[in-house]
Amino acid sequence: MTDTLAALLADKTAHARAIGAPVRTWMDYGTLRALSADVAAQLRGFGVGAADRVAIVLPNGPEMAAAFVTIAQAAVTAPLNPAYQREEYAFYLEDLRAKAIVVPDGYDGPALAAAEPLGMVVLRLVADAAGPAGAFRLAGPAGKAAPAGVPGAEATALILHTSGTTSRPKIVPLLQSNLAASARHIGASLALTGDDVCLNVMPLFHIHGLVAAVTASLAAGGAVWCAPGFDALKFFGWMTEAKPTWYTAVPTMHQAILARAARNRDTIAAHPLRFLRSSSASLPAQVMVELQETFNAPVIEAYGMTEAAHQMACNPLPPRAQKPGSVGIAAGPLLRIAHEVENRLVDGTGEVVISGPNVTPGYEGNPEANAKNFFEAEGRRWFRTGDQGALDEEGYLRLTGRLKEIINRGGEKISPLEVDGVLLDHPAVQQVVAFAMPHPKLGEEVAAAVVLREGHSATEREIRDFAASRMADFKVPRRVVILDEIPKGATGKLQRIGLAEKLGLGVP
Ligand code: ATP
Ligand code: MG
Repeated sequence: MTDTLAALLADKTAHARAIGAPVRTWMDYGTLRALSADVAAQLRGFGVGAADRVAIVLPNGPEMAAAFVTIAQAAVTAPLNPAYQREEYAFYLEDLRAKAIVVPDGYDGPALAAAEPLGMVVLRLVADAAGPAGAFRLAGPAGKAAPAGVPGAEATALILHTSGTTSRPKIVPLLQSNLAASARHIGASLALTGDDVCLNVMPLFHIHGLVAAVTASLAAGGAVWCAPGFDALKFFGWMTEAKPTWYTAVPTMHQAILARAARNRDTIAAHPLRFLRSSSASLPAQVMVELQETFNAPVIEAYGMTEAAHQMACNPLPPRAQKPGSVGIAAGPLLRIAHEVENRLVDGTGEVVISGPNVTPGYEGNPEANAKNFFEAEGRRWFRTGDQGALDEEGYLRLTGRLKEIINRGGEKISPLEVDGVLLDHPAVQQVVAFAMPHPKLGEEVAAAVVLREGHSATEREIRDFAASRMADFKVPRRVVILDEIPKGATGKLQRIGLAEKLGLGVP
């Protein structure tokens, strides 16, 4: 029984720090285990059994982390973005077949308006403000008690929808064993121990924060200090208070942190960071170098996705090399290129496929997607990631793009990532997203959205001329739109698909 969340926590030192937060004392492992037992008993009292689904709608912070970890040991958790509107909650709650919903005490927002007509059990999380970080109890209606029962390794612990970057969100169930395996893989690749403290700024309704920051920290007996969400202005104050040994973020957050670095030199000089981790979207090599120079600490880029309970590959810690532009080496699951596994001959790069104990058993209620994305070969079950890449001689994976995001210019395939990389070399350019815009003859044509560095200026013409001096003409963006901000998804990822439409480009 080592493949459950309960088993991961069972052997940790009772007085060691587990969960922290601004101006709060730490919750230790003994208290977290006692809280887990209380929450399980409370849930059974409210009629929630081990196989029932509990939607969690809480702001980021220690209670959200504690609610996830404790409820996931007793039932099936389904964290939802607290920024959703009523229609979005109605869709997700019904899609998930949630039995209960956890909201903050005193909450009267759109999640409840959506939950009530569905007859869901409404549980209010009453935070214990005088207690350690994350302490809470649940309040709810008295009902018929559910039978006692402890989820095993094969029970679903977490249900998330994919980010919806490339298509309508799909339901991804993750087992207790998927989460335990992924947390252990992450701990091993980052050499996490009981001395580590993670500063979490990632949203806790997304796999990255839930598994890399929270679960991997706890699986290693370390601590996770939960900020109330990402805020580049507050980030350096949090660093001073939490004294983290690492943090993990998406590239857009790292860039926002870098933009504030010059004003926080003293905090940076005193920081105890062992490393910085970046995942969930491609980290431009320029940003990696700037981070490394600013913090004088290794920047570890990792490759993750919802279906794999987050991490699939990770760059190694020093003394081994972190290769800029690479997402690292397989970290737990087997990682291959599809045509090699399928014994087909294909030139150049191919689709990345994985197989391992962290991979979801399959999308829920979506046999078409399962038939398309899973296949058997070499006596194993493989999952198609939808990402394109190539492995070098040392086993480092370089992602070259997403199959669905490739720009098809009259049959000529163009990688938007390659265009991003060239435009980022322009001294005035801070952020780029290249994308396909509709074209009446070619089908698709290259376009790019750009954010300029503070205090710099450049015109569309100058940026296009710069691109033309560095790449073949067919790859040069026909339009470069200069924006104050590029639209992001809920998890902070830049959105390539749908951008042309949002910006009104190429639409007749
Ligand atoms: P959907 O599947 O609904 O379109 P999504 O794939 O964006 O959404 P996630 O599971 O959050 O949802 O993201 C996983 C994807 O993020 C990966 O398939 C990959 O394309 C991208 N990704 C993750 N890490 C990296 C990285 N280090 N570099 C480049 N891309 C990355
Ligand atoms: Mg995906």
